[in-house]
Amino acid sequence: MRGLRIGSAFGIPVRLNWTFLIVLPLFAVFIAWDIAELVVVINQTFGATMNPNQLTDGTLPWVLGLASALGLFGGVLLHEFGHSLVALRYGYEIDSITLWLLGGVASFTEFPEDWRHELVIAIAGPIVSVLLGVGSYVAFTSLPSSVDAARFVFGYLAILNIVLAAFNLLPGFPMDGGRILRALLARNQPHAKATQQAAAVGKVFAFGLGLFGLFTNLFLIVLAFFIYIAASGEAQQTTIKAAFEDITVSDVMTSEENLKTVSEETTISDLLARMFTERHIGYPVLRNGNLVGIVTLDDAGAVEEAERDAYRVEDVMSTDLHTITPDADAMTAFQQMQQNDVGRLPVVNEAGDLVGIISRTDMMRAFNVIQSGGPPQTLGQPTSGPGLQ
Ligand SMILES: [Zn+2]
Repeated sequence: MRGLRIGSAFGIPVRLNWTFLIVLPLFAVFIAWDIAELVVVINQTFGATMNPNQLTDGTLPWVLGLASALGLFGGVLLHEFGHSLVALRYGYEIDSITLWLLGGVASFTEFPEDWRHELVIAIAGPIVSVLLGVGSYVAFTSLPSSVDAARFVFGYLAILNIVLAAFNLLPGFPMDGGRILRALLARNQPHAKATQQAAAVGKVFAFGLGLFGLFTNLFLIVLAFFIYIAASGEAQQTTIKAAFEDITVSDVMTSEENLKTVSEETTISDLLARMFTERHIGYPVLRNGNLVGIVTLDDAGAVEEAERDAYRVEDVMSTDLHTITPDADAMTAFQQMQQNDVGRLPVVNEAGDLVGIISRTDMMRAFNVIQSGGPPQTLGQPTSGPGLQ
């Protein structure tokens, strides 16, 4: 998730996503509209006697709305720092903290797989929220009634931070409760299996939340949808990661013997004819045996039909090459393809020679073999032909 960088603390950049810029003023407005009702709720919760009439005068509701909304999101930010600082202590890297539509997200460079680490990191956020709630309550009770405006804000934050902590403990990814559940499930079984179980619970929970939202609050449906997607994504990624553990690029790649290449002088017509007969849609391009580019069906198709005899591979190939070494992890190759949005990576050894190519198809085939219990040694022998998307 992208966002505008607004500063950093403890070496962690803090970002604002554009959705946050909508939700913050909305919150302020909703609070301002509901001041009178909120005063009643705070009075009932804490047995206090604030007078709503004094807080609904003139522009005061708007000031209180803005202060409460800012305080709430400040609390969300501190909640995320709770997770992040504990993670930093364990030696994990934090990419950034982003505030968005549904609160805050701390992006980890890698997720902890040690269940103890995950448990403590996950629980640290809600603990911060509870402490903020208690602190706000103390401020609420110790301030005199002459400053009811400030007491309103603290009373509101006392309730909301406790609600926030409780809400985050619900058992769906990516909420903290989902991570706590996975950590507990991973105590005596593999991480990937625990993730799938926790994700399954998260999906059932999201479904129930969505149903409940249908009759109560449409916001819950949005949230349920988000939890469902996140649970599926988390399960999928962990499954792939577990499948490719200890598997290197050279295990999966289409190796030199089976590699089909083109020279940069090949015309686009000839290239398309080869793509048709060989049923490949991506070729490494060689000049004097050295890799100089990659040409794909998309590149060739962009040339108008009448000009396909005149244009050559070197005119359309991409020379901005993302390569990978044969001893790199297969998972790294997968991530690199996703990050650069390419379907294949040339595999280049330390001497700079092209020794193979790894494509998404290679990865999918390998994944299917591993999932069905096949030995990784059988990978790398293509069944349908190398270099396909
Ligand atoms: Zn959290």
